[in-house]
Amino acid sequence: MTKRLDYFDPYQQRFEAEVVTLLERGGKPAVVLNQTCFYPTSGGQLHDTGRLGDVAVVDVIAEQGVVLHVLADAPSCAVSDVVTGSIDWARRYDHMQQHSGQHLLSQLLHQRFGFETVSVHFGREESTLDLDVPAIDPAMWAEVEREVNTLAYYGLEIRAYFVDNRELAKLPLRRPPAVSGQIRIVEIDGYDYSACGGTHVRTTAEIAPIKLLRQERRRAQTRLTFLCGMRALRDYQQKHHLLLESAALFSTEPSAVPAMTQRLQNQVRDLQRQTASLQEQLLAYEVAELLAGARRSNGMALVEFLSADRPADVLKQMAALLCAHSQVVGLLASTAGDKLTVIFCRSDDLTLQVGDLLRDTLAAFGGRGGGRPEYAQGGGLPVATAADLLAHARRQLLPSTL
Ligand SMILES: [Zn+2]
Repeated sequence: MTKRLDYFDPYQQRFEAEVVTLLERGGKPAVVLNQTCFYPTSGGQLHDTGRLGDVAVVDVIAEQGVVLHVLADAPSCAVSDVVTGSIDWARRYDHMQQHSGQHLLSQLLHQRFGFETVSVHFGREESTLDLDVPAIDPAMWAEVEREVNTLAYYGLEIRAYFVDNRELAKLPLRRPPAVSGQIRIVEIDGYDYSACGGTHVRTTAEIAPIKLLRQERRRAQTRLTFLCGMRALRDYQQKHHLLLESAALFSTEPSAVPAMTQRLQNQVRDLQRQTASLQEQLLAYEVAELLAGARRSNGMALVEFLSADRPADVLKQMAALLCAHSQVVGLLASTAGDKLTVIFCRSDDLTLQVGDLLRDTLAAFGGRGGGRPEYAQGGGLPVATAADLLAHARRQLLPSTL
């Protein structure tokens, strides 16, 4: 058994202990001591880190009453040596603030709102608790946040002690304990009693501020994400900084940022609409020009067009505009984005099979493809073939041209 100093004084950061066993866990050296301040991952709370002698403690595991300190490197100590341990206090205190905050929040939600905490998770960045309700409405959300912070400001004392089954029966626990025998109770000054092995701050004042970040629905339950203490402060600092940065970009006050963003969004939408309309007009002119310069044979106009920058959808638009005219065949290609797109098309009043023409043309260059009698699209060949490919198709239609 390892004596758990953290059970009795969660504020103790340094200790001396005797080495009981040296062993290995997951390929790393591990040490068992006769006593420790190191908290092992359990009850949802993450393990401590720190140093044992001059070696870093990277993981702490509880196994049948024994605490294993997993080390980064081989320790210089031997069994029966006395070693000095110290925990990373910033990390531990952060865990204490989150854990005590969760007890306070769960009791408030239970007592004041009738929501039961089904499960809890303490993460590296954020903590969550799952409640047995499908959603918390926004007005209630603000109330929970205000009340939990008010409770924190009361500076309610938090203490931990062990009770036997007889004493346990008298306590109004939110949830029955998962273990039996001597049970460790963490009490928030007559307000909350939880069976818990975790480390906690001395008073609720140390938990503040408590910030509810968001809720997500998970089937019939709600996952509530929250931050306590320094985490909440850091979050406020980051968000404040972001808001000031955004306001500076708009040369405005922070309070004007949402309206300014909305105005810019509307402007962008208007500009996009204008650009699309201008592009359409431009395309119509371009198509008229192409038609004017088209090769003509027996009343049919043959338009040949190769572009280095028109995307496939613009090429498609051009094909539609061209073929809206009578007696037109379009042989269009684009090499935009280093990708070959070929579109062959013709007016409805012609009988030429452009699908067959595309298939034969691509085949002549080692490619495959085809399409409908009046419209066909292909690609998949090197962009360098584009001009030859169009010339090849044109010669099929007008053998007299070079
Ligand atoms: Zn707990």
